[in-house]
Amino acid sequence: MIDIKTIAEKDRLSVLHPFTQLREFASGKIGDPTVVTGGQGIRIQDAEGRSYIDGFAGLYCVNIGYGRTEVAEAIARQAYNLAYYHTYAAHTTEELATLSDRLVRMAPGKPSKVFYGMSGSDANETQAKLVWYYNNLRGHPKRKKIISRERGYHGCSVISGSMTGMSFYHDHMDLPFPGILHTGTPHHYWGAEPGETEEAFSRRRAAELEELIVREGPETVGAFIAEPVLGTGGITPPPAGYWREIQDVLKRYDVLLIADEVICGFGRTGADFGSTLYGMEPDLVTVAKGLTSGYVPLSGAIVGEKVYSVMEEAADRVGAFSHGYTYSGHPIAAAAANAVIDIFEKERLSDRARTVGAHFHKQLKQKFAQLEIVGEVRGVGLLGAIEFVADRQTKRRFDPELKVGARISKAARDRGLIARAMPHGDILGFAPPLVLSEAEVDEIVDLAYRATKQVMDELA
Ligand code: PLP
Repeated sequence: MIDIKTIAEKDRLSVLHPFTQLREFASGKIGDPTVVTGGQGIRIQDAEGRSYIDGFAGLYCVNIGYGRTEVAEAIARQAYNLAYYHTYAAHTTEELATLSDRLVRMAPGKPSKVFYGMSGSDANETQAKLVWYYNNLRGHPKRKKIISRERGYHGCSVISGSMTGMSFYHDHMDLPFPGILHTGTPHHYWGAEPGETEEAFSRRRAAELEELIVREGPETVGAFIAEPVLGTGGITPPPAGYWREIQDVLKRYDVLLIADEVICGFGRTGADFGSTLYGMEPDLVTVAKGLTSGYVPLSGAIVGEKVYSVMEEAADRVGAFSHGYTYSGHPIAAAAANAVIDIFEKERLSDRARTVGAHFHKQLKQKFAQLEIVGEVRGVGLLGAIEFVADRQTKRRFDPELKVGARISKAARDRGLIARAMPHGDILGFAPPLVLSEAEVDEIVDLAYRATKQVMDELA
């Protein structure tokens, strides 16, 4: 038996937890940390013996589910054989070369090379440097600005955190960094004028992007970064026509497109990549999460031909590509990624996310769409969200003090379901492992429904 109290006490005294109210945690007001001890399939267990359905796959990452011994064995094999070597000065490993070949074959756009990091944040940091490097090398030194979207999420490091379009990532931390700009969010439910169609709304958002580029000076704008489906900003699929309209603008002004596939990549939307689903042709692609299903940290900044060819052509003039981490292309991470992609391909997880996802959305809509506190039920593949409002007609939000989203999430958790309360309103988000069955979908929807009913009763 593990001593939960001792673990909790050590943790409270020594761990700086992300997204935790420090004072409430330190004082014990929000209770002890949950000590997670195991995971199997779509479920995790805590030290008190409780089991939860992980309706969020950790942080949208454990796509293949927990406890896959094939991956554990690949990690162990690599650790026994060669636990570490670097990739500087043209060193590699078999696992890394194999993985890179696979990624270049499967990624959207016209991929040429993969640069490896450890997190989505650092991969987006790399993408920003690549945009600057590319424009310096091709003689456009002023083209440095990067545009992202309000409510977009791209990480929390200096530049990726600046790209993130959520003010609470910036407040008190001196972000956003100059030169990182934001344009409107593709959220039709909240952003559309009365009666405005999705297509018209998409055109308006594209026109706003164009205005921003023109106002800033097109010769100063290097790239636009976006998630194919807005993730942490509310799990919002793009409105109809959005990506066509946006890409038209980017092409007109020679602005690179960075597709942040950290959530969408590897099947989450029911296609291998979100870019493929929405007809995006990115110049740079960011992957992480599903790449290793979270089994070990690994991310990739996938560089398209257009950018890479300029880099290679300039090499005689500028010397070596001076960017790299000790752990870039770590062999254990590469071995894990290969084992995960084997499962992804063998079990056709994109197809599964599409078919099981269709059942999921049908069930969500059936159970929730008519509830008087539900404004919108949305999603694609195995990404889903329910947006709660105080008044469906006027779309009036609940008083934030009521913490409706957080309470529903807590009520679900008390019933053994992890579904995430998302920022920017009262939103319950779902991103379960892609291996779940239709019966498990029904279980998730039922638990979420009962949790919602409980909070509705409390509010009445
Ligand atoms: N990009 C997207 C779309 C994400 O959802 C995330 C994390 O949730 C990141 C980037 C940052 O990844 P990481 O937390 O691994 O730094």
